[in-house]
Order: sequence, then structure tokens, then C-alpha cells
Amino acid sequence: MSFQIGAYRPPSEGGNASLLLRVTENCSWNRCSFCEMYKEQRFAFRPAAEVKHDIDQIAAIRDEILAVAEKLGVTGPVTGETAEALLAEGRDLMGNASFVTVFNWLSSGGQTAFLQDADSMIMRAPEMIDVLGHLRRTLPSLTRVTCYARSKTVARKTAEELRQIREAGLDRLHIGLESGDDELLAVICKGVTRAEQIEGGQKAVAAGFQVSEYWMPDLGGRERWRQHAENTASALSAINPHYIRSRPLAPRRGTPLFEEIAEGRLHLSSPRQRLEELAVMIGGLEVTSRICFDHAMNAWADRRGDLLFRQDYEGYRFPDEKPLLLERIGEGLALDDAAHNQVRNMMGLRSL
Ligand code: SF4
Repeated sequence: MSFQIGAYRPPSEGGNASLLLRVTENCSWNRCSFCEMYKEQRFAFRPAAEVKHDIDQIAAIRDEILAVAEKLGVTGPVTGETAEALLAEGRDLMGNASFVTVFNWLSSGGQTAFLQDADSMIMRAPEMIDVLGHLRRTLPSLTRVTCYARSKTVARKTAEELRQIREAGLDRLHIGLESGDDELLAVICKGVTRAEQIEGGQKAVAAGFQVSEYWMPDLGGRERWRQHAENTASALSAINPHYIRSRPLAPRRGTPLFEEIAEGRLHLSSPRQRLEELAVMIGGLEVTSRICFDHAMNAWADRRGDLLFRQDYEGYRFPDEKPLLLERIGEGLALDDAAHNQVRNMMGLRSL
């Protein structure tokens, strides 16, 4: 028994050990200059029937695990005791990724699922609704289903299609905005304009989705940092998503952006300069979102040498915690790059 599992999911879905269900393969765009995730992989739709078969496989594995747990008298999330019993029965708990995924999902309560890969909303609406219906009927313990989506893909769907997909059981969209600046979006080959980013985000919010928007500090380097910060703040303010998540630039070897840096056409900011950019971006936000630094890349020092920002998945609640967050940025700005690089090194990141 097995089912397809893709390579990537957001950290917040990892924290919940979300069930991973692959509804499309790889990225339909695959041209962003900073991204290496699916570079050698071809995009493909998966037929709804194939995805539904995977859901049935998941249910069969779930039933096997729960039968063993029941024999042990375990109620609620499965435990290490269940894992030991499965291993004693000779089940391939370690070597079978499908089995491991379902076990981890059940051990976290079996409540959340993430639809892979990079832009699941590209599925045609009727097929997406069909898959979601089967998923919700077959795995009724799910309370939250999420996926990645490109703004442009969401913007192209009608309000009615979005409403129907939402009603069929898709709760949250993770959208890679990266920047709200048109010039920078063109430079990084994001394939979407600021207006489309705003339209996609606003339509998703209006359809009732919880929306997580990701932005990338330092994506514009020293060359475009201010326009990147200001226009990202105004685009996100126009969308007012539920979550705004920071993913600072980490150049990946083999990407066009890495080459730009190597050839001296793009200059990265120092940690302190990145904080100056954050001060402009965060200061410009007029939202009721939660601002999150839920990734190890968000490593700056406070005056005690600890992490400057909380890295939990729920983040800072705006507007109430905006003064606190700006105060934290101010505390970081009072330190030099050496102090911030020390914390970066502690987190396993290289100095900037
Ligand atoms: S849309 Fe996302 S996954 Fe696709 S190339 Fe761009 S950043 Fe990478």
C-alpha cells in the first residue's frame, strides 16, 4: 500500500505533521529566479481518479494502524506503543514513506492535510471539488486542509469557483507573494504583476479562505530594498491576509539569482540592513494579520544574544502587537552585524 508524496510543504504543515497528498506534480511555472525547488522536474496534472485512489490507500493504511492501536486499547492519537506493536507484527513502519506519513499524521491527531505540489489551485475546479469531497468523506477526522497557490492562478478563478472549492473543504491557501513591487517581480521572473497579486489575495480572502502570504526580505538586494519594502507593505495592506510570513532570501546555487550575486549584479544586505528593510516594510503594514517569522532563516539577535523574533506559527497579532514588533526591530538595529551573525551561526546559517 502506498501513495504519492511530494518533496515540499510549508513549515507550519510540518509542525502539525499534516498528511501530504499530492494532487499535481511539481510547478507549472517553474521560472522564479531564486527558486530551485522543482527545477529539473516537469509539471503534470494528476487525474482526479488517481488522487482519489491515493486517498483510499491512505484510508487503508489508517485502518491498519488503528486496528493495532485498538488491540492495545489506545484511544486518541496513536503512540510509540502502537509503533512498537506494528514493528513487532513485521509492518514496514520505517522503510515505507506512505506508512510513516500516515503514522505521523495519526500521532498528531489526524487533523490536518496539505495538498501538494507548488500550485494545487491550478487543478480544474470540478476536479478539485471532486477530490476534496472524497478526501473529506474518507478521512472525516480532518479539520483543516491547505495547499500552495500562485496568486495568478487564484486571480484567474471565478469568485463562484473559489467559493465552491472553499465549501468543498479547502481551508487555507499558502501564497508566495515574495514582493509587491512590479519592477522586482519582473526582475525575478515571478510571472505575476502586483495588481494580480492583490487581486488573487483579495479574491481568496473574499471566498472565505484563510490566506497565508509569504514575502522575501532582501529579494531586491541593496539595489531595490526600499521599493521592495514599501510596495510589499502596501500590497499586503490591500490584501489584509490572515497570515504574513517572512522568508528572507537564501540564494541557492544553480539558480539565476545566485549567478546575479556571483557576477556582482545583485548585492545582498547585511543582517542589520535587512532589519532596516524590515522596519520600513513592517512600519508600512496596515493590516489585521498575524506577522510570522516561522522559519530558521529569520535569525537576528536581541540584546541578550537570543533570537530577536518569536518563531511560532501564529506570530505577532496586528495591529495590537505592531508597536511591540517595531520595538523588537529597534532593539536589533541597536546591535552590529557581528552580533546578528553570531546568532545566524548558532542557527546553522552562514554570516552575511
Ligand atoms: S511558483 Fe513557487 S515553486 Fe514555482 S518557481 Fe516560483 S517560487 Fe518556485
